[in-house]
Amino acid sequence: MAIVGTLRNLFSESSRDESAQDARTPAALLLARLLPARCLLCADACTNALCAPCDADLRRTGEESCPRCRLPSSNGEVCGRCLRFPPKWSQLAAMFWYQFPLDRLIVGAKHARYWNMFDWAAVSTVAWPFANDATLIPVPASAERIEERGYNQTTLLARALAKRFSLRVDDEALVRIRATAKQANRSWAERRRNVKHAFAATRSLAGESVVLVDDVLTTGATLNECARAALAAGAARVDAYVIARVNPPRARDRIQKFNRAVA
Ligand SMILES: [Zn+2]
Ligand SMILES: [Zn+2]
Repeated sequence: MAIVGTLRNLFSESSRDESAQDARTPAALLLARLLPARCLLCADACTNALCAPCDADLRRTGEESCPRCRLPSSNGEVCGRCLRFPPKWSQLAAMFWYQFPLDRLIVGAKHARYWNMFDWAAVSTVAWPFANDATLIPVPASAERIEERGYNQTTLLARALAKRFSLRVDDEALVRIRATAKQANRSWAERRRNVKHAFAATRSLAGESVVLVDDVLTTGATLNECARAALAAGAARVDAYVIARVNPPRARDRIQKFNRAVA
């Protein structure tokens, strides 16, 4: 195991300078074949990022949730908050709650190159919940973040979904039109202001069914601005897909803790 870990670390260091958005280089694929696949949580041998028991332990959002925000609602009806303040997207898919240990894995996928987390997310999506001819648009990262990480994790996630469900990805349809500060360490109101009008479409999306793809929904501020931009470009419908959503905490210290945890 020590040798496996060392090899993985070596590879991850050696590939740091590669700037390809799809970081699945031939070397990475070769290494993935040579090394036995192990569960990221318990290190048991398995064919995916997580073994079946660890996967089963993750907390799922459940059936009785609001179709627009995926927070619990009676009989799966649209919740009061979404009726009062409807998000710009129509429906949200969010399989899991963003909590330990999945939060660590998603942060790992973002920063430590746990690429197989995206394939795992696609496989965990039992049925595609949106239009079969939808265009997947990953939430754009800033050039600075892509430079930092070497890839945009939402593009990798969108590609994994596209492969599984035979969909198309357009990772250039939306762009950031102004630099935004990192969302971490900001209050929820600040997050909304921070991303307001930060995105624009690069082409007409007239008549298209668009699915925005992101790893985590925290306040929804970023997805909402992306949905606004897609609708302004003529999209007939905009839905959103995330792996996990934050269960909104109540106490102020918990909000700050979540804000620190989620980039
Ligand atoms: Zn496991
Ligand atoms: Zn709702």
